[in-house]
Order: sequence, then structure tokens, then C-alpha cells
Amino acid sequence: MTETEGLIARASRCLADTYARFPVVLDRGEGCRVWDVAGKEYLDFVAGIAVCALGHCHPAVVRAVQTQAAKLLHVSNLYHIEPQIRLAELLCEHSFADRVFFCNSGAEANEAAIKLARKYAKEQGNSERIEIITMEGGFHGRTVAALTATAQAKYQKGFEPLLPGFQYVPFDDLGAVERAVGGQTAAILVEPIQGEGGICVPSEGYLQGLRKLCDGAGALLVFDEVQTGIGRTGRLFAYEHWGVEPDIMVLAKALGGGLPIGAMLAKEEVAASFTPGTHAATFGGNPLVTTAALATLTTILEENLAQRAAQMGGRLMYQLRSIQDAHHGVKAIRGEGLLVGMELDREVRPVLARCLDAGLLLSSAGEKVIRFAPPLIVSEKEVQRAVDILDTALSEVTG
Ligand SMILES: *Cc1c(COP(=O)(O)O)cnc(C)c1O
Repeated sequence: MTETEGLIARASRCLADTYARFPVVLDRGEGCRVWDVAGKEYLDFVAGIAVCALGHCHPAVVRAVQTQAAKLLHVSNLYHIEPQIRLAELLCEHSFADRVFFCNSGAEANEAAIKLARKYAKEQGNSERIEIITMEGGFHGRTVAALTATAQAKYQKGFEPLLPGFQYVPFDDLGAVERAVGGQTAAILVEPIQGEGGICVPSEGYLQGLRKLCDGAGALLVFDEVQTGIGRTGRLFAYEHWGVEPDIMVLAKALGGGLPIGAMLAKEEVAASFTPGTHAATFGGNPLVTTAALATLTTILEENLAQRAAQMGGRLMYQLRSIQDAHHGVKAIRGEGLLVGMELDREVRPVLARCLDAGLLLSSAGEKVIRFAPPLIVSEKEVQRAVDILDTALSEVTG
């Protein structure tokens, strides 16, 4: 039995069986590459599912984490710490927001947003405003409120009863939202581009329309930018593409450069409904994760990596289109910046497995969409190599 087989056998006995893991054991990484325990090299176009925006072991993040680990790891939010303050300042300076609440994950950031939206309505004297409208095909996380917000049967099945006070409408359908929104609506919660749902970019005017509907109905607009945020789509935040500002935004994934951190950002008027004792997270924004996030965000801003994501994403999309006609199974290629999806007419898992064998890590977004989310520092050569490997894999699997 190889070392890899031995480890996978042990995993199958001791870990909760919640992931359909690929049969590799990863050991170390550098830039856009990772190596498994057998020493095989892979080009990483998953990047921890849009987490490792600076690639693996970026020197700025490594240095920040090493220094901070030797200085102070954790103290609790009973006290002030400078990196948390600086990170909040930086996020506010570069977004619509005035205040930030830190937590540990995307789901937790969505929980905070849902709680704040309901609390804000109560504070306004609107105790009947309890409903959150979310979009079919959306994804907001796995905790119970976030799961209820996630309008996809495959994630919810078996976990009923879900929370009351949610209503689902089709994505990219303003008419449906118009019919659903009213005096009972606390907030509309939406991903500017749906990630897990298959990299779905809305029509021009959709997010603008949601803003108008919220303003008309007195509801809050919440953008879940857990996957699209921090430069991924070619702007620091995806909402900038449409010139529409939310009242609340949630972040996680790329924010910590690989360390677990989530954030909920809000306008002053809305954030004011969170007062001492109303919400909390033990680890939220602790010294280590906020220092890592500061190093990540500073690097992304200073090196203009959002702009780079736009350029490299354009290249990736162009090259994917150039191989599209050679494979009859390809139905669509879509996305923004370095968040790109290729929809096939069949399940993509066999294609991903072939790519893995050939040294390329790719993930799916839904069963029939291949997701490309490489680090924002990806090079032209790496994009070319990934497309070449995929080209061959598609030929082998779809003919
Ligand atoms: C990944 C994701 C989440 C959940 O984040 P976790 O950190 O896994 O809880 C929420 N919303 C979106 C849009 C995501 O892509």
C-alpha cells in the first residue's frame, strides 16, 4: 500500500464522510502550484475554492502570520487589537461600508447579515418585516439560517424544518422579485454572480433593479460577495461592475489569504442596530486572522491584482472559447474576471478526474459546470497550460 492509499484508508475510517474527496493527499504549495505526498505537482485552478487569491505561501502572508504568531494569537473581543481596527478601516475605505463585524466563515457572515436585517427592521418599528428574499440556485452556506437562505433542494433535503421567514424567487428575474417584495420584506439577499449555482452572471439592469425595488419597499439589499469579493471578478467587489451599492455585504473566502475569516460590512444607519451584546463571535477577527487578511488585502490593492484578474480572466475566457468548437459537449462559457464557468451537457466529474491525473486541479460549480478560480497571480503560461490539459481531457471524455 502506498503512503497515499494508507492515508486515504485512514481518512475513510475517522473523518465524517461529508466530502467526495479526490484521491490525492496534498502536502505543500507555492504560487499556483501544489504537490501531493508522493511528490506529484499540480497546477491549482481551484485555489481552495476561490480562497487563495495570492496563491500558496505568498511571502507577504507567510511573513505576517509568522511574525504575528510569535507576538499574539488571540485575546477575545473584550479588548481592542490594532490589526482588526486597521482591517476594518481598509475595508470601509475601499467599499460602500462604514462598519465591519468579523466572524470566521461565509455562513457565519450571512447569519450576521440575516440577524442584522431583522434587528434593523425591529428598531425601525417594523416588527412585521421579517422576511428575507433569496434567489433559486444561490448559495449562502451550511448553517441553518444560511442553509434556509440557500434555495437549492439538494443542500436542504433532510434538514427540515428550516427557518421561517424566507421566500425564494428565480435568479435574474426582476418581475418575480417585484411580486414577492412588500411590507413584510426585511431584505433581499443575493450573490452578484452566483458561484456554486454555476457561475451565473445576471443580465444588465438586474442588480440596479433590485436596488430600486428595495428602496421602494423599504427593504435592505444584501450582497453575498463571499466568492466574488476581494478582486476575484476583476474589481475589488463585484457590485462595482454594476455601480450598485448594497446596505450590507458579506465576505469570507479570499479575505484571509487562506486563514479562516468572515466579515459583514454595513452602512452606518443599518450597522447601528448591532449594539453591545446583540451579536458576537469568540474568534471573530482575532489578531492572527486579521493580520493575515491585512497582508492579503494590502498586497491585492498595491499590486492591482483585481485589474490583473480582469486581464487574465479575459485571456482564460478567450482561450476556452478557442477550444469550445472542438468539443461538442460544451454548452456555454461565462463569468467575470477569474471566476469562470464552462457548462457541459453532462456531469463534469469525469473531466475533473482526467485533469487531476494530468496535473491540473479544477472544481465544479453544480454538476455540469467546470469552475475556474485560479489565484489572481496566475501567469499567461499557467492559463495556457491549464487550457491545454483541459482540451485533452475533454477529448478523452466527451470525444
Ligand atoms: C462559500 C460560500 C459561502 C459559505 O462560506 P463558508 O465559509 O463555507 O461558510 C457563502 N456564500 C457564498 C457565495 C459562497 O461562495
